[in-house]
Amino acid sequence: MYAKLLGDATLYDILQRIDEDLAAQARTAGCTCGGRLHSAVYPRKPRGGPAGLGAGYEHRLSYCCAQEGCRRRTTPPSVRFLGRKVYLGAVVVLVSALRQGPTPTRVRVLHELFGVGERTLRRWRHWWQKSFSESRLWQAARARLMPAVRAGALPGALAERCGAHTTGGLCRLLRCLSPITTASCGRSGGGF
Ligand SMILES: [Zn+2]
Repeated sequence: MYAKLLGDATLYDILQRIDEDLAAQARTAGCTCGGRLHSAVYPRKPRGGPAGLGAGYEHRLSYCCAQEGCRRRTTPPSVRFLGRKVYLGAVVVLVSALRQGPTPTRVRVLHELFGVGERTLRRWRHWWQKSFSESRLWQAARARLMPAVRAGALPGALAERCGAHTTGGLCRLLRCLSPITTASCGRSGGGF
């Protein structure tokens, strides 16, 4: 079911609109110095999604302060790009989840479907188990999750809890994760 959702073009349109919304909020809030924000996008070539993603997927929305002497960058949280990872956030979450559980999807199948290799899968697993599980976001979120989700079961157990097999559930999950996609924007994308 995760694999089918990841191939659905509608999902990526919705995620694009959520990102535009998060960016608009950040732009309205302005720079911490009070300056106005100007668009300064990062070029991206995201992997793992279906063919024909819109031109919007060729960059990550970001801003620079227009104020002389400040020029601080503000990168809004994103539900499309999980930090600097090359693969789309939805892919990093759901493909990692497919590799877990009692009947994990074979590495060969995941490679055929999403172009994700064994080394990448191992790196993601390490990221979920170490970097993510030790992040402030997860430390705060796990205290509110009942019954508890073990760090070792990330991200599969979390995806299941959020109902990430549906477009709505996956969008909610990515929104909850979005604060970790940026260090330069205090605005929270939501909570678990
Ligand atoms: Zn500024």
